[in-house]
Amino acid sequence: MGQIGNVGIPESVNLRTEYAYIRNKIVPIYDANVNIMTQAFLFGTAIHEGLRGYYNTEKNQLYVFRMKDHYERMCRNAKILKMDGYKTVDELCEISKSLLQKNAFKDDCYMRSIMYKSAIQYGLLLENCNDFAAFCVLQKRFQDDIDTSINVGVSSWQRIEDNMIPARAKINGAYVNSCLAMTEALDNGFDDAIFLNASGKISEGSGMNIFIIKNNVVYTPLGTDSILEGITRDTIITILEKELNLKCETRSIDRTELYMADEIFLVGTAVEIIGVKSVDRRIIGRNNVITNKLKEIYFNIVRGNNPKYFNWLYPVY
Ligand code: PMP
Repeated sequence: MGQIGNVGIPESVNLRTEYAYIRNKIVPIYDANVNIMTQAFLFGTAIHEGLRGYYNTEKNQLYVFRMKDHYERMCRNAKILKMDGYKTVDELCEISKSLLQKNAFKDDCYMRSIMYKSAIQYGLLLENCNDFAAFCVLQKRFQDDIDTSINVGVSSWQRIEDNMIPARAKINGAYVNSCLAMTEALDNGFDDAIFLNASGKISEGSGMNIFIIKNNVVYTPLGTDSILEGITRDTIITILEKELNLKCETRSIDRTELYMADEIFLVGTAVEIIGVKSVDRRIIGRNNVITNKLKEIYFNIVRGNNPKYFNWLYPVY
């Protein structure tokens, strides 16, 4: 293993990026490090956002999807860890734009932004000592084929509750919950996990929100069912109502409703929209008819091919 910078990342690893942002400046990725005594490293006291950039070759433009909404969520969540006011939404958008420009990306990419407790301290107090860091990597979409769908299993791990670590806050440390569920699912031969919450109701996937369809009505769990209130979830609700004239009800969902659904799909910035083939090895009703329609409309919007939704796009160049 070659020593690069002071982190020892193997030279063979293609990081798909050159620059990152940390401590108020853009630096080479190998210099974007935190000290092991940093509170966020020790306890996960940080919140993050994952954003996607879509490159439109005809327009020579990179669009970040709903960047403002992501940073509005981050700034609201910041209150929970006493980081509110550290940066404004506009400042976070400007930083992100500069970082993407510096990397000169002309392809699809994914950006991870982190607001974290930067104090060098191993105590538990949430001190008013914060930093913002971000990196972006070239990343193609996960699904090449519109028909891609996955097998999921209900997890033996329960979703964290609001009075433990709030799921709606995208707190870094909370993602141990997701790592355990996702790993268990793969170990059991599934592609991903579905969490139940403390009341035994459906919460969400390891890193995505869930929708089910029964008799042409779409359902998704409540914001109070221990979910992250996703930007994609909101996008899908809008598309369902405005483009497909389908009602979306937000209400608690039972596990067995999954088994009997006509369609199930999962949504999130990273995974985009993905259909579910089976739950706990029970085949789901029919062939993703509405899910595939949604995908088509969504991919057109995010790539900047639907003028009706241009206000959701943040041009980088
Ligand atoms: N739930 C969880 C647990 C997540 O981590 C994410 C984001 N990856 C989502 C849902 C989807 O949120 P968004 O659509 O805002 O990316």
